[in-house]
Amino acid sequence: MGIRVTVWGENVHEQKNKVVAGIYPLTMHGTIAKALKEAGIDASTVTLQDAEHGLTPEKLAATDVLIWWGHCAHGDVEDAIVERVCDAVWGGMGIIFLHSAHFSKPFKRLMGAPCNLSWREAGERERLWVTSRQHPIAAGLPDHFELEYEEMYGEPFGVPEPLETVFVSWFAGGEVFRSGLTYKRGAGNIFYFRPGHETYPTYHDANVQRVILNAVNWAYNPNKRIADPNHAPNVPVDKALEPIVERGPRLHHDGEEGYR
Ligand code: ZN
Repeated sequence: MGIRVTVWGENVHEQKNKVVAGIYPLTMHGTIAKALKEAGIDASTVTLQDAEHGLTPEKLAATDVLIWWGHCAHGDVEDAIVERVCDAVWGGMGIIFLHSAHFSKPFKRLMGAPCNLSWREAGERERLWVTSRQHPIAAGLPDHFELEYEEMYGEPFGVPEPLETVFVSWFAGGEVFRSGLTYKRGAGNIFYFRPGHETYPTYHDANVQRVILNAVNWAYNPNKRIADPNHAPNVPVDKALEPIVERGPRLHHDGEEGYR
């Protein structure tokens, strides 16, 4: 069975903006999923407008790697669904955040940081440099590649220090940005990839498609999902691995759940 990828699309710009609809007649999420399918990935799509934003417990259980593109409707994503997505990541689901998903609720929740950056929408040339040689996410890519039209994202990017920086970007206006970052949260692998402004044809680019495919393979965790990654058991004295004698005062009773 191939890696099961769910591409989550906000699906607002494609429906409301003729430029975006013209560039992405299959929608952005549909375009990303099509490229993955052509590479042998078992990719499907869901959108913000679906019931439970398409992210039911059953769908997440059947998702190895979730890809997230959102921009103008981050606030419309229900907090309960955000928590469900984070639980799945902590339990071992891979997740890839694209472009303006830097301000999505699940990314901010997983990063625990402002995730802010500077930006400019001026159709600038972006040059991405591979900064981690032989990293699996950079497999098959040249040392650098260019996107002729992109939105600028500039440092400082308000995220925690990543495990690895796979790409940095230079923009025609002079700014630079850490544009490919890996994280691990709980058992889940996380990749943030910067390109993908909706008014440019970025997701049709072969190198960008290669990065997303590589990231899917990298983020995939074949192990069984951890059922309750929030489990915090109170281990009784008589169940300690080595015999111990209880001493000193205590607050909690035997078997008590503890505070959350
Ligand atoms: Zn953008």
